[in-house]
Amino acid sequence: MAKSGVFTLWLVNLAPGNQYYWGEGTMWAVGNHLRDMFQKVVDHPSSPFERLHYSWERGVVQQTDIVIYFLASQADSIIKEKYKALPKHNSGSGGTFPSASGMISEVYLRAMEGDFAYSRLVAKLAFHECMHNKIDTPPASTTADIHNGDGLAAATISNGTDLTDKNIGLMAANLGRKVIQHTETMNATTKFLF
Ligand SMILES: [Zn+2]
Repeated sequence: MAKSGVFTLWLVNLAPGNQYYWGEGTMWAVGNHLRDMFQKVVDHPSSPFERLHYSWERGVVQQTDIVIYFLASQADSIIKEKYKALPKHNSGSGGTFPSASGMISEVYLRAMEGDFAYSRLVAKLAFHECMHNKIDTPPASTTADIHNGDGLAAATISNGTDLTDKNIGLMAANLGRKVIQHTETMNATTKFLF
């Protein structure tokens, strides 16, 4: 089947900037790393999409898109604060939860500060949460736990962890799945767009 349409990754910044780690430059770099990874997914034969788009701006989120929230720490978690819930993979650096208002994926930035390639690690963690978002956290999912996989599917990720062909294939096969995203917080946010 011929590929068609666009897959969009919506990046939402809810973290205040700081001198060394988080600001416009880092956001640009994180976006570039994520674009490079997701381009491989979109180019995979199993992906139904023809093109990739990513944005730090607001827009209309389609049923097959992914929204990721970047927060300073888990203390700011939408999952924890708004839903009093624990994410699928309750780690210090990210979480994903199927809320009544849609799937929520979060990345906690402070946990990664100090890393020698900070923006790349943040992007890798974001990709991991995207895997939870589409593959094992949707209610009708047939995959129980992505952590059984290799590379960026593993429960613990460092800068040396690579995006594997398996990761790309699995993500591509699930990319067209309609997982309604939590957009309420994204749409209510006007702050921290540097
Ligand atoms: Zn995980």
